[in-house]
Amino acid sequence: MSRAKMIKQAKRVVIKIGSSILAKPGQALSHKALAGIAREVSFSEKGGKDTVIVSSGAIAAGMNALKFKLKPKKMPELQACAAVGQPILMQLYQKALDKSGLRGAQVLLDRLDLENEERRQYARNTLLELIKRRVIPIINENDAVFVEEIRVGDNDNLAAMVACLIDADLLILLTDQDGFYTADPQRCEGAQRIELVHKIDGPMLSQASGTLNPGSTGGMLTKLAAAKMATSASIPTIIADGQDKAILKKIYAGETIGTLFLP
Ligand code: GLU
Repeated sequence: MSRAKMIKQAKRVVIKIGSSILAKPGQALSHKALAGIAREVSFSEKGGKDTVIVSSGAIAAGMNALKFKLKPKKMPELQACAAVGQPILMQLYQKALDKSGLRGAQVLLDRLDLENEERRQYARNTLLELIKRRVIPIINENDAVFVEEIRVGDNDNLAAMVACLIDADLLILLTDQDGFYTADPQRCEGAQRIELVHKIDGPMLSQASGTLNPGSTGGMLTKLAAAKMATSASIPTIIADGQDKAILKKIYAGETIGTLFLP
């Protein structure tokens, strides 16, 4: 099946928004960035796609509000940042969605919600009900009370787990880089973007690096792990540039943008 056809046929889409798109290191969440995302989400919804957001940014917003320059290492401090930042994040999302007449819903999950069969069912039912009512689920990990052992730890993997949970047809990981490269483009000049990936193998995983941004979590390593999880469950995955204000329009039009990982 062609790329364009596969994307056109995708009815249910999970979109992960990374912290780096929402805030510059050490700064407050950007209203402008959120407004841009809300416009794209509205375009996606109005185009008939069930659109589910997995958004980072709570810790970044909390760090700014509580004046932490670097990501705190102590768990209670990190969790306090998440507790302060999550309502800020949701408030800004709703304000941005209001302009398109859309309603968002906060859903905070942890690993057990996604692994325990009974809890999985509850989480799934809630998300499907929101989708049915054309409310946009805005999902994050329940960072304020996480227990290290049962934490997913990054929203790339959380987004892949959510995509599997609700039988999504497409997973889009939006970040500050326009795809997966042959080497880290921030450190290596000749690095080239890979357009299409048939299989995520060992050499590819060793090419991927973590993030340099103090407000962010995963980097390419967790994105590849997420793409592996989703594609193994037959869900095509795209890593693309969330700073491009028309990114979903371009993806939905079938443009060869970002990196597409085939199921
Ligand atoms: N849940 C974290 C937050 O909201 C982000 C985790 C991640 O970016 O992967 O800040």
